[in-house]
Amino acid sequence: MLGAIIGDIVGSRFEFNNHRSKEFDLFADGCFATDDSIMTLAVAKGIMEVVKANPPSGYAYGHAEFYGYLADRVERYMQEIGHKYPNCGFGGMFYKWVFSKDPEPYNSFGNGAAMRVSPAGFAAISERDAIDLAEAVTVITHDHEEGVKGATATTLAIFLARHGATKNEIRERIVLDYYPLDFRINDIRSTYKFNETCQETVPQAIECFLESTSFEDAIRTAISLGGDSDTIGAITGAIAEAYYGVPVDIKEKALSYLDEELRAIFDAWYEFRPSDGEKFKVLTKYIGKISAADSLGEWIIDKENDGTPEHPINMPFVNYSRLVIDFEQEFYQFFEANPEYLLTGYREILEKNGLKWNNKKMRSADLNGLDEQCVLALITGAIRAERFCDGALLGFIEDGSLAKWLKRLKDIDWQRQERQIQ
Ligand SMILES: [Mg+2]
Repeated sequence: MLGAIIGDIVGSRFEFNNHRSKEFDLFADGCFATDDSIMTLAVAKGIMEVVKANPPSGYAYGHAEFYGYLADRVERYMQEIGHKYPNCGFGGMFYKWVFSKDPEPYNSFGNGAAMRVSPAGFAAISERDAIDLAEAVTVITHDHEEGVKGATATTLAIFLARHGATKNEIRERIVLDYYPLDFRINDIRSTYKFNETCQETVPQAIECFLESTSFEDAIRTAISLGGDSDTIGAITGAIAEAYYGVPVDIKEKALSYLDEELRAIFDAWYEFRPSDGEKFKVLTKYIGKISAADSLGEWIIDKENDGTPEHPINMPFVNYSRLVIDFEQEFYQFFEANPEYLLTGYREILEKNGLKWNNKKMRSADLNGLDEQCVLALITGAIRAERFCDGALLGFIEDGSLAKWLKRLKDIDWQRQERQIQ
């Protein structure tokens, strides 16, 4: 939900004044929390109240009355809160709905369905639930098939991102169940126009997330596309929050745009659903995937050439699986997004910790006392080693070193969270 609020505030000054580049100040004069933030908070308030009163049993919220009750509360809060912010940017039809004495769904497929739905993705405890929650909070206004589709696709992407799916896994799922995603942002930027429908906003916003390298880069990519900037920012931002987490400075700055009442809803929500705060989740999610993989890489040995000067034998090399390639790419993105770890100096970091950039020292490192910078330097060292010695990375994966390092990062994340709770 925080990611949606950030994307909305950052995008607010560009909605009718598009900025088709990633270079701009995130927060500046003219930024404000628009209807996207305000309705997101209204949905959050409704979900929070109903879930607190009806705690889920097992893996689902379940029964039909629950969803009826939920729809009723969310409708009430969208109206109640909406009345207080009549000029926050509502579209014409939605404005009428907010002020109607007898609000009825109006068959909308507007992108409002997707910009406000993110709390459903953060509250859900199963995929089924994510979809049911999304549908229940959407059909009170946007009961057109495309409206529901936009909301459920957004919610599912958030749910998957929270639960350790890779970007490729999220892409495959969205393509299978929702939208083809057969375009790239760079190719559509020059022709993309302002469009308020789900079908011309949600796939583009999901693609902005999928092509991003960090939370901030996701927001910048979303704005750079143009169009309905605050709404695309909100949808992309919500998924990016679930996937990367949100840097503290961006969070603090964005929250300063909420007035007291909105801030109180926000605070109550984060007490109800604390964000997991795992800084290394983008990396540690690979622990289980690597141990479950059938193959991580295969040695390719040249059997065709015979070593004569006309047919020199190619050096053996490893053809890595997509999972390892994804991990490497994600690690480099983390490396770029977190310059404070100074990882280009990984060899010096290892040496400062009594280690060396070689197989033996790296494998036998005692991880208990090592801090996050040193663990990240070990991983950097293993990935860099592949450049100089084919199969080096595969060696570190197969003997369990990489898994050990990633588990250490997970422990560090847990310890940090425990300190925060205390
Ligand atoms: Mg707006």
